[in-house]
Amino acid sequence: MFCIYCGVELPEHAKFCFQCGKAVAVRKEEAEKRAIEEQAQECCEIIYVPVAEKKGLFPKEKGRFEAVIMKAGDKPLTIAKSDVFDLGGFQLYGPAEKNKHHAEALAKLADGLHLAGWRQDGKRGPFWYSLRFRRNS
Ligand SMILES: [Zn+2]
Repeated sequence: MFCIYCGVELPEHAKFCFQCGKAVAVRKEEAEKRAIEEQAQECCEIIYVPVAEKKGLFPKEKGRFEAVIMKAGDKPLTIAKSDVFDLGGFQLYGPAEKNKHHAEALAKLADGLHLAGWRQDGKRGPFWYSLRFRRNS
């Protein structure tokens, strides 16, 4: 963007012009363009989904990670799935970060998302695996 007073090119989110010192007034078109760009971004988050359960003395569960697009008022839309892995014993409360199979399934899913043009967001959801991604739609 450019300073509307002196015309010097400024960094994207500058608040003051480094050349003339005036407060940066963002041109209306630029503000609108930025708003449209932000609206056009899709977000997805990785969640854990159990796929099979065995109850009993030695309960076991199978599950996988899924990348889902959360839409307000809509069901989450699954766009990618990881390999299925086992949970057992103390892991029945969810996948464990220290479990090699769980961590690998997550890493593989994240790689696939990167290849599909998703960029990892700095933000993370409530669990160690709830990575968030953004993509221009
Ligand atoms: Zn200026």
